[in-house]
Amino acid sequence: MPDDTGPGRELLHAELLSIGSELTVGETRDTNAGELARALTLEGVIVGRITALPDRLEAVRDALTAGLERADLVVSTGGLGPTPDDLTREAIAAATGETPAVDPELDAWLRDRWARRGLPFPEINLKQAWLIPSAVALPNPNGSAPGWFVSRPDGRVIVALPGPPREMRPMWSDQALPRLRTRGLGREIAVQTFRLTGIGESQVAEILGEEMLRRPDPEVATYARVEAVDIRVSADGPGSDGATAAERVAAASSVVRERLGSYVWAEGDTTWSSAIGQRLAELGWRLAVDEIGSGGQVGLVLGDDDRLALVESRPFDAARPTDDVDDEGSLIDRARGVRSRAGVEVGLAVRVRPRGSEYAVSVAVVTPRTERRQTRTTYAGGSIGRSQSGLLAAAILLETLR
Ligand code: AMP
Ligand code: MG
Repeated sequence: MPDDTGPGRELLHAELLSIGSELTVGETRDTNAGELARALTLEGVIVGRITALPDRLEAVRDALTAGLERADLVVSTGGLGPTPDDLTREAIAAATGETPAVDPELDAWLRDRWARRGLPFPEINLKQAWLIPSAVALPNPNGSAPGWFVSRPDGRVIVALPGPPREMRPMWSDQALPRLRTRGLGREIAVQTFRLTGIGESQVAEILGEEMLRRPDPEVATYARVEAVDIRVSADGPGSDGATAAERVAAASSVVRERLGSYVWAEGDTTWSSAIGQRLAELGWRLAVDEIGSGGQVGLVLGDDDRLALVESRPFDAARPTDDVDDEGSLIDRARGVRSRAGVEVGLAVRVRPRGSEYAVSVAVVTPRTERRQTRTTYAGGSIGRSQSGLLAAAILLETLR
């Protein structure tokens, strides 16, 4: 990374600091950094590091100094409160070698907040009116802590946001982000996500191959999630071959499609509920569900799509392990039954029963075009197995509708 490209410097690399001892003792979960990392990534900024820090001046100052050496942008949350343990302003002043002074405008704004409620101004809050010469204040309509937008002479930027998420979020999106974009935030990015079912992450990795998964550009990464194995193909900025990010992602994506396309059930951030709802809408059909023994998981996976007309959910009757749905025809009959009770086009009947330490999931789908019945086994027992049963049913349903 170049050391200094002047005030016109593009903000391409960022680090995030989550400040507050409540984080480092584990009392509060750091949700701010994750949200900011996601937002910055979408802007084409590479987040190189996320650090949580206690309320200690030297620790925060050192993290700021080091972050500014490595990155173009450091975004902090927390430590902007009025109490002596909130030291982010002091730490920024120390890291930049500047001296804070009370800003008259902020001072007036702050005092007015209390005056309007007829309360005396607690002088302890005065430091919330501080600024350093290289900082401008980011207004906080939801609290008493203004943020700081600090522009360093070398073009680097520090953004200090309050810790409470309900103050942090609007200040980030309404105040900080527009200013950062004006500065030149991030590079062109391209992302393509494939959602796969019926295949495990390690098998996906094997098929994609080590070369593809290791090379940095375009980056191809796999994520094992509950509802899918995702393959995320991404690139940013111009490539070494002169191709745009979008071109490089498209090229790698076509290889992914070629090798694994038959397992892909959706792209982007599509959920099972929306994929099935969309397919039903295309067909002009509605759906009714009869599920037994899945703890309502099928209805949960399908969500509240308005194409879902009826869900009948019953526990598995353990006393009757040879329940009539064991025989081939009867699960189809259940699918037909719920379909006609609901007066819709598609009936889905699902029956989940223990098989060894896992579950056997039998699924019947009846549509105006076809009738289909299938049994699959989950990879786990317990509540994970039951939620897998809902996903298996959704996968068979979607496959049948397509
Ligand atoms: P502060 O700005 O340090 O006074 O933070 C005040 C409150 O914001 C804390 O007590 C937490 O409840 C919340 N908070 C601070 N940092 C975070 C964070 N990184 N993620 C989620 N909540 C936070
Ligand atoms: Mg704090």
